[in-house]
Amino acid sequence: MFCPNCGSANDDNNFRCTKCGEVIQPAAQQTATGDPEDSAIMRMLLPVGRSGLAIAAGYAGLFALLVFPAPLALVLGILAIRDLRKHPTKHGMGRAIFGVVGGALGTALLLWIVVT
Ligand SMILES: [Zn+2]
Repeated sequence: MFCPNCGSANDDNNFRCTKCGEVIQPAAQQTATGDPEDSAIMRMLLPVGRSGLAIAAGYAGLFALLVFPAPLALVLGILAIRDLRKHPTKHGMGRAIFGVVGGALGTALLLWIVVT
């Protein structure tokens, strides 16, 4: 590609112009070194490196608010926490805990409905 500053030809992989030092690929370099996976916000938005079980538990926790799948959310949440403990590189503990808490609340409500 050509440098927008001085117009000299550069290799397509170059981050800076070899002649004048102008940054010619800021976007490509940011994704390479900015490491969006380290950002908690990005982790909230993208399921990067997150435990699949934790995601399932999170959604089950949401549905647990509708009471019926609550025991499933509780089980999935517990499984997800165990999975996350075994694989510390995975993320999603928040969702897993949410699944357990939502599942426990939903299960208690379900039992209360059944008993009364
Ligand atoms: Zn240049």
